[in-house]
Amino acid sequence: MTVRALKYRSPWNLDLEEVPDLTAEGPDDVVVDIAFCGICGTDLGIVSGSYPVAVSGVTLGHEASGIVAEVGSEVTTVRPGDRVVINPTPYCGTCRMCLTGRINHCVNKHGTEAGVSYDGAYADRYRTTSGFIHKLPDHVSLEAAALTEPLSCVLSGVRKIVPPSMAATTYVFGAGPLGLLYTWALWLKGLAPVVVETSDARRSFAKNCLPEGVESYASLDDARQGFFGDAKAPLDVVVDTTSVLLADLYPRMAPGGTLMSIGLKQKDFTIDGMQLADRSLTVMGSIDSLHGSFVEALHLIVSGRIPTERLVSHVVPLADFPRGFAALGCDIASESYAPTSTPSCKVLISTGASTGEGRE
Ligand SMILES: [Zn+2]
Ligand SMILES: [Zn+2]
Repeated sequence: MTVRALKYRSPWNLDLEEVPDLTAEGPDDVVVDIAFCGICGTDLGIVSGSYPVAVSGVTLGHEASGIVAEVGSEVTTVRPGDRVVINPTPYCGTCRMCLTGRINHCVNKHGTEAGVSYDGAYADRYRTTSGFIHKLPDHVSLEAAALTEPLSCVLSGVRKIVPPSMAATTYVFGAGPLGLLYTWALWLKGLAPVVVETSDARRSFAKNCLPEGVESYASLDDARQGFFGDAKAPLDVVVDTTSVLLADLYPRMAPGGTLMSIGLKQKDFTIDGMQLADRSLTVMGSIDSLHGSFVEALHLIVSGRIPTERLVSHVVPLADFPRGFAALGCDIASESYAPTSTPSCKVLISTGASTGEGRE
């Protein structure tokens, strides 16, 4: 028997292939029939060639949920038929990075994660071990659960942000999935973030998925005036999900301010060491999950405190994957990547497993 898997060859070169079926080989293996797998900025970077980290021949996709198909002889935590979410980021638990609280930089995880350096979940089936599988309660949809991994990455970043005060003026740049998840997480932390997004299409989609009282604006000036009623409102806490605004935002940070950058685009900027110290600034980055952040993310989804399903703008069958990428501006046919004018946020690739239809 064979199953479908979306293989990465080189930038702009993807193939939906039939590959040998997966079975539980080891005693701790779990094989999952994938239901949904979200398209991440990482995938867009890999496909468009701007984030050259994927191994040629690998199955892409790492934000997935599904239904357990098969388990190894020693697995007791899940059984076939269980609805689950997959943590795609392995760590060994024994290297110095893992033992010192940095599992996201485990030296034994062979590159980055599922769907990048080994086979991921834009596929009918995925195999992992039981520690990386979490069972879903009945009331949580497989669509909502597919956003657990990006939320986990966001919570890792939010843990590192220590606002100077609860009155900190807080800005999130970019209203894509990560921008909106940062907004929710900072809001739950007690801050009152404002969102800055230049794309009308993204702003219009975001309108219905922001926390109560949070607004989005087309520019920093509009946000300062419109949200804080002050054209000179200070930049106390800033999250830049675009990664292209560092040079512009850094000199404008308030003394004691924190600037978090989480985009993965190559962009240099200069830091004046005297200014950094003299103005007590914090500049930092964040990637992947930290210890416990995946379970923390799942808890926020299960408890309904972050309505991740509202961030889903498109669900596209696996066979139609180019349409899913195109919804985010990544046009595989013409090898071009540019913002779209149609509203979008999180795009999920669907295999049809959740409806029992199999191959859509
Ligand atoms: Zn991702
Ligand atoms: Zn490790």
